[in-house]
Amino acid sequence: MNKKRVAVIGAGPAGLMAAGQAAARGAEVVVFEKKRRPALKLAITGKGRCNLTNKAPLAEFIKSYGPNGRFLRSSFGHFFSGDLIKFLKELGVNTGFERGGRVFPLSGDAAEVARALIGWAKENGAKIKTGTKVIRLIINENTISGVRYVASEGSEKAQDYLTDGVIIATGGASYPATGSTGDGYRLAKSVGHCIIPVRPALVPLETRGDIAGRLQGLSLKNVRLKMLADGKKAGDIFGEMLFTHYGVSGPIVLTVSKQVVDLLEEGKKVILSIDLKPALDHRKLDARILRDLETYRNKKSKSILKMLLPQKLIPVCIELLDLSGDKPGNQISSDERKRLRLWLKDFRLEVIGHRSFEEAIVTAGGIDLKEVDPKSLESRLVKNLYFAGEVLDIDADTGGFNLQAAFSTGYLAGISATR
Ligand SMILES: Cc1cc2nc3c(=O)[nH]c(=O)nc-3n(C[C@H](O)[C@H](O)[C@H](O)COP(=O)(O)OP(=O)(O)OC[C@H]3O[C@@H](n4cnc5c(N)ncnc54)[C@H](O)[C@@H]3O)c2cc1C
Repeated sequence: MNKKRVAVIGAGPAGLMAAGQAAARGAEVVVFEKKRRPALKLAITGKGRCNLTNKAPLAEFIKSYGPNGRFLRSSFGHFFSGDLIKFLKELGVNTGFERGGRVFPLSGDAAEVARALIGWAKENGAKIKTGTKVIRLIINENTISGVRYVASEGSEKAQDYLTDGVIIATGGASYPATGSTGDGYRLAKSVGHCIIPVRPALVPLETRGDIAGRLQGLSLKNVRLKMLADGKKAGDIFGEMLFTHYGVSGPIVLTVSKQVVDLLEEGKKVILSIDLKPALDHRKLDARILRDLETYRNKKSKSILKMLLPQKLIPVCIELLDLSGDKPGNQISSDERKRLRLWLKDFRLEVIGHRSFEEAIVTAGGIDLKEVDPKSLESRLVKNLYFAGEVLDIDADTGGFNLQAAFSTGYLAGISATR
């Protein structure tokens, strides 16, 4: 019996997993990878440590992708976090988990995960053709019959590779230097697929004025961040954030960024309101300020503020509230005290934009899930065409969810393509 031929486009986590699974089931697999080395993005994930999955139970896991998470049920049914941990252990990559159930390799080295995956796919017989870029899908009567590719560098002419199945695993459009430049969207569109508009997600935000810049490097832990869109509350989140030279970043900012990007796109005015003292209500906070002013009544207010604020925030607070930093505590008026209390609970920054795809951890939008069968990941429009990974309209919060989606959809696409 002739071997099934499968072409995989993209050697990221989704493509390598798909290729290895298809090859393990006897298919002749070629992976086309346009960069000189496979899995460039995987090797830089998790700040080089690779947060590869999460210990969260299935229901919670699925929630992290928003409404589109349901699409992943079948993929997770075939290959979920426990399977990934076991799979990596068999490849010699031991893992451990940290705060929030985040799973990392014990070596703390993302490149180790990439090497293990590449080695495994090759051992199973998958051939990885690096430096080759797929530029077209070849279709006959709504059935895929191959791909056209060129050498990524140089002027070699295009060649065709004929196959029984093709898996598009080209990733999203973020961090384009790693090879994910949105090619999969163009390829899918050329054969009739709808693409949900792509936009950066898990992306830092830019804020008006020079306040953020003056606070650059300051990390605030245990704050509550509220989003206001045209003056109406659009959500809130508790945790850690960071100031940068252009605006804000850090875990809670990245988490809300997709929503903020969409609100800006709708033309809404977006304000981030930071509650610097979320554990104290207004009454308790007032009592706390009064106590500090009383205890340190002869000290300058800029010194007293050290009890309430990180050093970097003090000059900003004094300027925004029009206080005199040299005034002693016992001369602070009740109006000044009120201004301070209100600001501590509602420090506002206006969002004027977001960083580009170059700095976005993931891409929101992508192949419309309505046109893909979740049970096989086969296109509903073109027979024997499959999708895996971030190219799909799937994205999640940080925590290992994006990589698990890539591995799980890669697994299912790989086995489906050999059926
Ligand atoms: C800095 C950073 C840190 C991250 N950290 C984490 C983390 O810790 N945990 C987590 O869960 N997620 C993390 N992510 C997200 C995660 O890396 C991605 O969701 C995941 O890599 C997607 O896998 P993929 O296989 O779908 O696509 P990719 O990893 O993007 O791989 C796609 C591959 O396809 C190739 N390709 C594209 N077009 C073509 C073409 N036409 N022909 C041939 N080859 C092509 C590309 O060169 C690339 O190698 C991080 C992302 C970034 C940018």
